[in-house]
This record gives sequence, structure tokens and C-alpha cells, in this order.
Amino acid sequence: MQTNFSLAQLADPAMAASEKILRTCVHCGFCTATCPTYLLLGDELDSPRGRIYLIKDMLEGGKPASAEVVRHVDRCLSCLSCMTTCPSGVHYMHLVDHARAHIETTYPRPAGDRFLRALLAQVLPYPGRFRLALRAAKLGQPFKGLVARVPQVGRRLAAMLDLAPASMPGRNPTNRAGTFPPKGAATKRVALLRGCAQSVLRPDFNEAAIRLLNRHGVEVVHAQEGCCGALTHHMGKEHSSHALAKQAIDAWDAEIAKGLDAILVTASGCGTTIKDYGFMFREDPAYAEKAARVSALAKDVTEFMATLPLAEPVVESDLVVAYHSACSMQHGQGIRTEPKALLTRAGFTVKEVPEGHICCGSAGTYNILQPEIAEKLRERKVANIERIRPDVIATGNIGCATQIGKGTAIPIVHTVELLDWATGGPKPAALQAIRPHLAAAE
Ligand code: SF4
Ligand code: SF4
Repeated sequence: MQTNFSLAQLADPAMAASEKILRTCVHCGFCTATCPTYLLLGDELDSPRGRIYLIKDMLEGGKPASAEVVRHVDRCLSCLSCMTTCPSGVHYMHLVDHARAHIETTYPRPAGDRFLRALLAQVLPYPGRFRLALRAAKLGQPFKGLVARVPQVGRRLAAMLDLAPASMPGRNPTNRAGTFPPKGAATKRVALLRGCAQSVLRPDFNEAAIRLLNRHGVEVVHAQEGCCGALTHHMGKEHSSHALAKQAIDAWDAEIAKGLDAILVTASGCGTTIKDYGFMFREDPAYAEKAARVSALAKDVTEFMATLPLAEPVVESDLVVAYHSACSMQHGQGIRTEPKALLTRAGFTVKEVPEGHICCGSAGTYNILQPEIAEKLRERKVANIERIRPDVIATGNIGCATQIGKGTAIPIVHTVELLDWATGGPKPAALQAIRPHLAAAE
């Protein structure tokens, strides 16, 4: 694609990076076929190619974001399905990240919108505040109908109430900073991201990961990092996301100095962002090197487990597992085979979900900010999963687990929970009610 940026514009590294991306797009339109919003809405401006044109026009013209650009960029899930499809290697993720940051600084959003986005940015990344908000949301659930009628933001506030879980997990002994050593001598040492929302909603995911890693001779460290910054990064709130990311980088850098084989992540949405820290901080003299070191060590927990010989399964199970690959897992990190291969090796029957490349509608805060589209995508995803009649759904991202779990009665677990159970850990809580006769070693 031909571009017309001035030399002065290209002196800005962010603009120079976007110009390079824009020039790789050849307008072929292959990406439209796999874009969830184009599939649902049928509008070229809600396709990757359409958005690329809108972003180009906005950046090249040095214009503040218009309401039209904001509408179509906001509807983008950042699912990155278009990046998997694109034959020219267009780095849409960096382009849309830049566009969102530009929107954040140049577009005066309506008051309700501003309030809602500020609320999400101030609550979700902080476990204490998020826990309180979930309690408040539970109290508010009976009034959902009234809440939905609040002008401008009612539908989205109602979506927020909807996502609150029916019950909150109790205190989890592993949900703290500290070291979790294996029984014998450690062969490897890793840091494990504790995360923000996941540590409140499903601390059992990391608990299972720690048991699984320990069983395979790996020492696990929960460092003093907080949120990785992914949630606010996707909202274009660069100031907040960079501050959170720097805190995480500093915490991990201290552990790297003590010797670390990997930084593991059990939420693929976070993993995609952490792997991109090197790019995010490339122009920051104080953080460029540290960020690149952290990104180079970052791995999804299944990506790491695939490098170890998996312990022999001790549970005989004929459970059929529908593996839901989060967009951030398959499109963001290119991890496609490892989780399924591990589950198969652990003795489960793994089935592919039809249309597995299409997003479930979770996408960070998308299911709150764009509830209509998110709901349609959830219905489509759940229908595709239920069509293969699985006993259980496995995934590697808390957002997907919450989003899909709201639409089906089929239990949904993290991939590591099944691997942990199969190799000697407890049966995942979500599976307690189903087919107990299959768990031979209980
Ligand atoms: S990231 Fe997803 S929703 Fe956004 S343009 Fe690409 S395919 Fe479409
Ligand atoms: S597939 Fe790639 S090159 Fe083709 S229009 Fe989409 S982004 Fe551009």
C-alpha cells in the first residue's frame, strides 16, 4: 500500500513503525474471510482491510480520531485472526495498538463511555478492587433490568453484572508471592505470572500449574508483579499499561538475576502482551533491554510443558475434551499443537472445535464494551462446541473460560488442570459432578 507520511511524521518511531506495516498490505482482502466482525456485520469498515484504510487515513492526515474511526476500531476484537490469514505478514496488532493509543489521546468520548472505560481501567488490573467490585456486582444482579435502562452505558453495565460469577473462590494458599519448590532437586526454575483478574476468579488455575510444574521437577516463583498491563493496553491507555508493565518487568528482572529458565503465563491474553514488551519498550533507554529479556523468556505454560517429558498418566479417563484455543494463543502466539498434544498424551480424547479460529467474544474488556457482538460470538462458539458433544471444555485463557462458561452447562477448565489431574493431582473442581466412575485413581 502506498503511503504519504511526511518526514516530520516519520521522525516519530510509532508512526514510522505503522507506516512500515501499512506498506506491507496489498489490499488483497484475504483477511476479511476470517474476521469475526466482518462475518457478523458484513461491513467492509468492520473488516481488517477496512480498518487498515481508516487507520491509514487518520494517521497519515495527522487527524484526531473521528467518531467513524472510533466506532470501527472499537468493534475490532484484537483477536488477530487476520494476522494468521494475511499472506503478506501485515502486523495488524501493532497497527491497531497504535490506533487505539491515538484514539485515546485525540478523541473526546461521550461522558458515559469515558466513565465506563475509566472504571474498568481502575478496577480490573487490581485484585483487591476487582474482588470488591464482584461482590458489589452480585448484589446488583437482581437489578440488572433497571441498570440496563441507564442512558448510554446501561447495556454495558448490565453485561458487567452478567459476568460476575455466582460464587467467589475462597482463599487459595498459592495465591501469594513466594517460591514453590518441587519435592526433590529442582531441574529448572521459572517465574509464573499471578495475574490480576484470574487470581481473583480462578486462583485454582495457577495452583494446578504449580503442582504440575513441581511434579516435573520445576521450581516456581510468584514474583511481586501485579497486572501485566494487557487489559489497559488493549483500551489504548498507554500510560497505565506501560506503568503496570514496567512494574512486572522490574519484578521479573530481579528474578532473572537469580537465574530463571522461563517466565510462564497461564492466561494467553497476558502472554501475548508480555511477549511484546520488547517492542513496546524498544525506544525506552531504561527499559528496552530489560523488556527484551523478559519477552525472550516468556512462554505459555503449555509451550513450556511441551519441552518436558510428561509424567505417565495415573488416571484412566475416556473424557472427550473440546479444546478451545484462545485467539491470543493461536493467533497471538502461534501456539496451536502443544496443548492438544499434551492433553492427548495425558490420555484424553481431544476434539477440534468447528470454526475454531473464530473468537468467542471475550477479548479482554470487549464483552463488556461491545456486549451485542460479544453475545453473538459466544452463541456461535457455544453452538460449535456443543455440536461435538464434549464432556469438558479446556482452554488456556481466563477470559474465554468466563465468556464461554456463561453460555453453556458443559464444565470448562484450564488445560493445566486436566494435565495436573491426569498426572497425579486432584480432580478439577468443575468436574466433580461428571462421570465420577471414570476417574480410576481417585
Ligand atoms: S483483530 Fe480480529 S476483529 Fe480485528 S480486524 Fe483482525 S480479525 Fe477482525
Ligand atoms: S490479507 Fe493482509 S495484505 Fe491482504 S488486505 Fe488483509 S491485511 Fe492487507
